[in-house]
Amino acid sequence: MIYIVGSGIAGLSAAIALRRAGHDVTVITKELSGGSSHVSKGGIAAATAVDDSPQIHAEDTLRVGDGLCDVEAVKYFTSEAPVIIEELIKMGFEFDNDLRLEGGHSRRRVHHRTDETGKVLTEFLLRKAIELGVNIVEDELMALQVRDGVIRGFVTRERGLISNVDYLVLATGGYAYLWQYTSNPPTNTGDGIAIAFRAGAVVSDMEFVQFHPTITTLDGEVMLLTETLRGEGARIVNEFGERFTFKYHEHGELAPRDVLSRAIYIELMNGHKVYMDLSGIEGFEEKFPGVSDFLRRHGLSIKDRVPIYPGAHFTIGGLRVNVRGETNIKGLYAIGEVADTGLHGANRLASNSLLEALVMGFNLPRYLGEPWAGPRLDDGSLTTVRLRDNGPLMSVDEVRRVNWEYVGILRSGDGLRKALSLYEGVNTAVGTRESNAALVSYLTAYSALLRTESRGVHYRVDYPGKDAGWRRRIYLRVSP
Ligand SMILES: Cc1cc2nc3c(=O)[nH]c(=O)nc-3n(C[C@H](O)[C@H](O)[C@H](O)COP(=O)(O)OP(=O)(O)OC[C@H]3O[C@@H](n4cnc5c(N)ncnc54)[C@H](O)[C@@H]3O)c2cc1C
Repeated sequence: MIYIVGSGIAGLSAAIALRRAGHDVTVITKELSGGSSHVSKGGIAAATAVDDSPQIHAEDTLRVGDGLCDVEAVKYFTSEAPVIIEELIKMGFEFDNDLRLEGGHSRRRVHHRTDETGKVLTEFLLRKAIELGVNIVEDELMALQVRDGVIRGFVTRERGLISNVDYLVLATGGYAYLWQYTSNPPTNTGDGIAIAFRAGAVVSDMEFVQFHPTITTLDGEVMLLTETLRGEGARIVNEFGERFTFKYHEHGELAPRDVLSRAIYIELMNGHKVYMDLSGIEGFEEKFPGVSDFLRRHGLSIKDRVPIYPGAHFTIGGLRVNVRGETNIKGLYAIGEVADTGLHGANRLASNSLLEALVMGFNLPRYLGEPWAGPRLDDGSLTTVRLRDNGPLMSVDEVRRVNWEYVGILRSGDGLRKALSLYEGVNTAVGTRESNAALVSYLTAYSALLRTESRGVHYRVDYPGKDAGWRRRIYLRVSP
């Protein structure tokens, strides 16, 4: 039996592929309809157009990644991308005919199904997994059992200890829910990262948290206004109707997400209002039925300006793995957003994450049973971190406030030290949601304080420039 934890696009792709390869598979998930995959919008990046190639896709990924991408990982994922699109089509998934353009891409290469690609694809993969006989149960991972660097078992809330495990696949997603303003669902508290870290797994790039520039909340309902809206002609304006983004970047609305997020954040902090103006999009209702429905539900139309704000969206950091998903713990795989392959570097190119989740999931059986290589750790420095196994717990809501205030879009040494002092006072050693949230946030603030430069999505007001000496990763591991 192979156990997979998480029922997002990464977990379901792995389940289908492993089942097809003849394995018995159980998927354990905290919430079947949880995770980012269900709410993801824009689509999947792959170079399939005649004017495009994996090499151009790789060049775009490397440029946006700001000097920290793992070049081998970039080559791997961009060359596997057309293969995975072909595979989905063969399985019966229908993409819309057009390819969309998103920020940072030099070609139209975003494969999508309306503006709800993730939702439709997750439901499709779930149906396939069930048809193939994958066993899916709702339960929650609490701890891992690791001896001599090898996975032996794991503990869940309902089932207790499951032992004699040869392989465990973590597909538990990222931790972007841990900021007060976010596009992520409440399941995304970084459980897999915290749990595996306590058991000895190495994490990397935790400081790189991508903020999405265009989120809206209408009558309490949160909606991400996908990047492709801007590719299709949406404008970002202030209360005077001015397209202020050109003050911050020559590409205006199509500037990379980090630049736009900072621009909107600064305008809001300066007391301005910021809106998305959708009126320039041709064929809006057909191209964006999800956004159109959302506006209608809240009494708005394409003619109205929609108030927007930036929020935490995607976490680049995670469990350090190679492109096969192998962590430094033998038998423990991590795939999708819980993992860090180095594909995204210091900044993720839009629509590369569903791609990464799909490729890692579908390709997993290829590598199963091969000698365990584990990740490379020679492109950075490894620091050990002590856990606190007593003291009070901090509520997830409080963690979210601390992160937004001190570990957010604009960071400073003083703010990060303040966050660390708060997290150092709470219990980070037990497997509860609160303790996981505080531990992952502690690791994020810790790495962000170490990185005394601004690069990619990590911005320090006290170190606004890039420092060539920091072209290396920060690896963290628990103190023995
Ligand atoms: C609004 C939004 C739009 C996006 N749009 C795009 C896009 O257009 N293109 C793109 O490439 N990326 C997009 N992303 C990012 C992308 O959706 C994610 O990176 C991707 O879906 C991650 O998939 P995953 O399977 O790794 O994790 P998730 O889909 O987050 O799934 C995690 C799973 O783990 C389970 N889980 C978590 N903790 C536990 C636990 N302790 N025990 C048991 N189960 C657990 C959850 O229940 C869930 O099933 C978007 C993200 C958001 C939030």
